[in-house]
Amino acid sequence: MRKRAPADLFIGRRSIPMSDLNLDSAQLDRYSRHIIMDGVGPTGQSSLLSSRVLVVGAGGLGSPAIEYLAAAGIGEVGIVDDDDVERSNLQRQVIHGDGDVGRPKVESAAEFVADLNPDVTVEKYDFRVTPENVADLIADYDFVVDGSDNFTTRYLVNDACTLAGVPFSHGAIYRFEGQITTFTEGSPCYRCLFPEAPPAGTVPDCATTGVLGVLPGVVGSIQATETVKHLMDVGESLDGRLLHYDALEMGFEELPIVADPDCAVCGEAGIESVEEVEYAGSCAVAE
Ligand SMILES: [Zn+2]
Repeated sequence: MRKRAPADLFIGRRSIPMSDLNLDSAQLDRYSRHIIMDGVGPTGQSSLLSSRVLVVGAGGLGSPAIEYLAAAGIGEVGIVDDDDVERSNLQRQVIHGDGDVGRPKVESAAEFVADLNPDVTVEKYDFRVTPENVADLIADYDFVVDGSDNFTTRYLVNDACTLAGVPFSHGAIYRFEGQITTFTEGSPCYRCLFPEAPPAGTVPDCATTGVLGVLPGVVGSIQATETVKHLMDVGESLDGRLLHYDALEMGFEELPIVADPDCAVCGEAGIESVEEVEYAGSCAVAE
């Protein structure tokens, strides 16, 4: 029987040189199912622990994203949301509890993360994303998860991340359906697909049409998956692909996303700052 070298850590049948690890004993235990995986390992886990991710919205999509990012050991999670928890949120926004009703979502979300994983630092931003603050907000992050529920924020996040070269995940939900994609530097952007927002009132929100409570759990979890993969530089991302999920038919479909050379943001003659855009109504970029 082979003797274990003292300089190696054995997890299951796998030997990991201690020199590869910069983790304490509690972290070795907490992340052991990552550390033993090909494709993650101590290097991947260390990447997650030194990463910073901004989650826009601590609602239906933000909840599972925050939950899994925190569990995975993302070193810093920024959470931006200016809403308070309402009882009608609890059917799908699973990081908030009944006792949190009336409290700021960022406070409730930060407590959830602290309880789940003390390795994770939470930065709380209890305000709305605006053209004035978005560039500063995203500047310090390696990846942004857009879990917003309105077109103004969605276009702001797209435009600011695209201009700054910050990769981000897009997720959206509608009744029984969801869509997800990932945008990275040099890839097509959300405006290549949807140059401007639909007219106000034509796409009703969750409060108007309802949403299946478990639906954002699937979509937000896929966003967290894309985030973790990007940070560890493994696998194929949804870059250039829009994944559509139909919970009623229980199926996924993919649509290609093609770069528009005339895109108002990532095209050759695109804008240079979000301050050139009027983020109300259609969020259209003026000629
Ligand atoms: Zn574009």
